[in-house]
Amino acid sequence: MAVIEADLAVVGCGAVGASCAYQAAKRGLTVAVFDAKMPTAGSSGACNGSICGTTKRPGLMMELTVASKALFPENVAELGGGLEYKVNGGLMICEDETVADAAGHHAAELRNVGTEITYLAGKELRRAEPALSRELHGAYHAPDEATINAQMWTFALVRGAVAQGARTFWNTPPLGFDLNGTRIQAMDTAAGRVVAEHYLFSAGVWSRPLGAMIGVDIPVVPRRGELVMTDRGGAFTGMKLISAKYLTVKQDADAVKASDDPVIRLGYGFSLGTSAHGQTMMGSTRAFVGYDSRSTPEGIATLISEAIKRVPLLAGARVLRCFAGFRPYVADGKPIVGRSGIVENLLVAAGHEGDGICLSPITGAMIADLAMGREPAFDITELTPDRFGVVKEGAEVA
Ligand SMILES: Cc1cc2nc3c(=O)[nH]c(=O)nc-3n(C[C@H](O)[C@H](O)[C@H](O)COP(=O)(O)OP(=O)(O)OC[C@H]3O[C@@H](n4cnc5c(N)ncnc54)[C@H](O)[C@@H]3O)c2cc1C
Repeated sequence: MAVIEADLAVVGCGAVGASCAYQAAKRGLTVAVFDAKMPTAGSSGACNGSICGTTKRPGLMMELTVASKALFPENVAELGGGLEYKVNGGLMICEDETVADAAGHHAAELRNVGTEITYLAGKELRRAEPALSRELHGAYHAPDEATINAQMWTFALVRGAVAQGARTFWNTPPLGFDLNGTRIQAMDTAAGRVVAEHYLFSAGVWSRPLGAMIGVDIPVVPRRGELVMTDRGGAFTGMKLISAKYLTVKQDADAVKASDDPVIRLGYGFSLGTSAHGQTMMGSTRAFVGYDSRSTPEGIATLISEAIKRVPLLAGARVLRCFAGFRPYVADGKPIVGRSGIVENLLVAAGHEGDGICLSPITGAMIADLAMGREPAFDITELTPDRFGVVKEGAEVA
């Protein structure tokens, strides 16, 4: 059987795994990348590409977002440019006064951590984005919000890693692991036996069954998000539009479940992005339905009708396609990133919920540092995989 040796074996290659592979290879590590299918087979192939600071709460997640946003221009340039990376700014929409008041507190917190954000209403708002409904109370404008094509980004990272010497193995999931005490000795695959210094588990919503193969609990749960794509994107300025109400839906799963409002119970939060090719992407819902990736009639109808309320000209748009992806959700609202204390040469990078594209550069940089035996630039103790421990007896890990 062939033996594949590496400093770092990356298991799971969406945007997060690809970024870790790229950063590690760039730092001179030998890297072997494995995916059960191929890059973008998972969440990174069915999502938006917002690089968004306004949807984060101040604290570590905001600090990581600021650092990650700052890495994009350099990473994109190193990878040859393009990738539909744009810093077009964003508008956080306030439908009425109550929403505006609540969003005002959030905006103040964002300002405290250095985010440029100003409230626009009336003529100022119409000048900023003429397509918005005149019924809206106003919107917070953040000029440094950005977007990228998530699929192009993921493949560019893979190409970048390969250019630095990484080897890739698609349709090659691990078949089993040899553990020697608290260390992974080897990983068996159809391509050969992998012997690596470190193993990174970065399999997004499939991280839990992967972790269970070595008894480590990585409790990432799929949270389905539906999207509808239309034409008419060319009629917009290209700014990312998001409702301030989106924050509650994203960050408070219990409030969504308990809501009397059927739209909120769908986990609906308005977002609208425009692609470089003149299309819109209407988002989005949040639902815990296991690995069911279907678009639903209720979801599609809500996405379209709610978007038209805020952007009336969409009533004349042509629906091009509908699809759904999975946000890798962790119950405490934080991704799982760092070194395992249970299996000493295991690293984990998973569970980034709706922020995996945005946070992929900084996650890649921190995992590459850990794989080199260095401390990462941020204290990420609160993201440690050890907060979940080992797989409990009889626990479901599918
Ligand atoms: C509707 C929607 C909109 C979103 N919008 C945004 C946005 O605007 N901005 C943003 O930052 N994020 C957004 N997200 C979130 C983003 O898509 C995810 O956070 C991100 O794609 C997660 O990347 P990942 O690499 O962790 O996982 P994935 O992309 O799912 O990659 C995991 C990989 O692991 C592989 N795999 C699975 N099991 C195994 C195994 N046993 N062995 C080896 N490989 C395996 C899979 O094939 C897959 O390729 C959105 C998500 C959704 C659903």
